[in-house]
Amino acid sequence: MRTSQEYLQKLAGMRPNIYLDGECIGRDHPKVVHASYAIQLTFDKASDPEYSKWLTTTSHVSGQPINRFNHIHQSPEDLLLKQEMTRKMCNLVGGCIQRCMGADSMNGLSVVTKNCDLKYGTDYHARWLKYLAYFQENDLVAAASQTDAKGDRSKRPSEQDDPDMYLHVVERRDDGVIVSGAKLHNTMAPYSDELLVFPTRALAKHEQDYAIAFAIPADAEGIYMIGRQAFAPERQPNLAAPYPKLADIESMTVFDRVFVPNERIFLNGETDMGGQLALTFALYHRHSYCGCKPGVADVMLGLTALLADYNGVEKKDNVRATFADMISVAELVFAAGIASGVKSFNAPSGTQVPNIIYANVGRRHAGHNMYHEYECLCDVAGGLPATLPLTPEYNHPVVGDFVRKYVKRRADVPEENHYRAYHLASDILTGEGGAALLIAGVHGGGSPIMEDIAILGSYDINGKKKLAKFLAGIEED
Ligand SMILES: Cc1cc2nc3c(=O)[nH]c(=O)nc-3n(C[C@H](O)[C@H](O)[C@H](O)COP(=O)(O)OP(=O)(O)OC[C@H]3O[C@@H](n4cnc5c(N)ncnc54)[C@H](O)[C@@H]3O)c2cc1C
Repeated sequence: MRTSQEYLQKLAGMRPNIYLDGECIGRDHPKVVHASYAIQLTFDKASDPEYSKWLTTTSHVSGQPINRFNHIHQSPEDLLLKQEMTRKMCNLVGGCIQRCMGADSMNGLSVVTKNCDLKYGTDYHARWLKYLAYFQENDLVAAASQTDAKGDRSKRPSEQDDPDMYLHVVERRDDGVIVSGAKLHNTMAPYSDELLVFPTRALAKHEQDYAIAFAIPADAEGIYMIGRQAFAPERQPNLAAPYPKLADIESMTVFDRVFVPNERIFLNGETDMGGQLALTFALYHRHSYCGCKPGVADVMLGLTALLADYNGVEKKDNVRATFADMISVAELVFAAGIASGVKSFNAPSGTQVPNIIYANVGRRHAGHNMYHEYECLCDVAGGLPATLPLTPEYNHPVVGDFVRKYVKRRADVPEENHYRAYHLASDILTGEGGAALLIAGVHGGGSPIMEDIAILGSYDINGKKKLAKFLAGIEED
């Protein structure tokens, strides 16, 4: 397994293809290194005895120790440990741990490459297993490049005026394919080793060029990462804290005639399998959300309770009702994830697949309550998160004493603690990172309607109708 230093060294040697603040930058740029903080922790914590039970496991292919983020789940227990690991790691950073993108993509590929071979006699699974061995041995980090630009939402991929609205094959060669298009909203792509690219939706039979899945080094020729940062507001050093270390650079990742060699192609033209892969990745990702959303909710609840405590209102009925609301959302989502693991099934590849209904209702509940959780924190915090003077004023020789005096609520709590707690609330409620997390909480893993579709597509509503008929005494053939 790599150390975080080895991970950063590898990034530093990659071809600069990240466009941020009007410049083309390399992965040793301070902003990229800062953004990779959460990923660095996934390496550091693997050797920490307090975390290694969750962060490490044994590869089912090589028998060697690996990071759990690179594991292919073999049992319900693996799914549970992944979910617990995700919650713990999100607690540690106060937000998204990010590395689940690669884990969920690799698990999806594990299932669908095998299903495709069984149906069409292809050899994608063996290819993918070779890639997995390389991926695990080198302890790689991968981004999920699924969401296409999509153009006019009322039209299919093949109906778009511009075919590049969905990434597709533009040329077929004996040794591979050339692809063009763009994948949007790519979390952590600028500081990943590899991109795992696959379709975003169900495809029609004639849309073979869009049914393409592959792995590619993130700095391959023809790839442009157009970045958007989400950083917490800067603080002066005497008020530094762990939370602002968390950052993120999202990427609009453009593929301008990118060559993909055969050995890295895991689907090529099998349209029904393209749709299956889109859904399978989403299923794993929704299961991950059942770990990360409660992890973030822990932070939200903890901060809401702390502010209520400092304000002297922690025991008030209205505030306690807010806590109960927040706890119920977090723990119901977590419980749905556990149920999804317990009721999971084993695919022909041997990979453990979360239960569709439980993973989707968990993710759906989390998404529907996302703004409500922010509302709970906002309610109890009052208006100060929006108007809090920042650290230069806190430290200012003329006005600093005023800031410290007027942020104070309870006399027995040091003024700096009041300020720090409110700064965290301000970072979450008004900062770039908090806002990105909020939108991701609604749309990440698919917009809310996609969970409804997944639930309605697999739920036995007719079985429930039969039950109603039985109880009503309705007899039919
Ligand atoms: C912070 C963040 C991080 C993300 N990270 C990743 C990532 O790492 N990798 C990745 O691949 N993706 C990622 N996503 C993308 C995420 O999966 C998409 O945002 C989501 O699938 C919605 O797609 P969209 O943004 O194109 O919205 P749209 O598809 O435009 O959806 C907007 C609304 O229109 C509705 N709509 C769209 N089409 C139709 C239709 N035909 N009929 C009826 N209604 C329709 C949707 O239901 C939704 O309500 C991320 C998103 C966010 C916000």
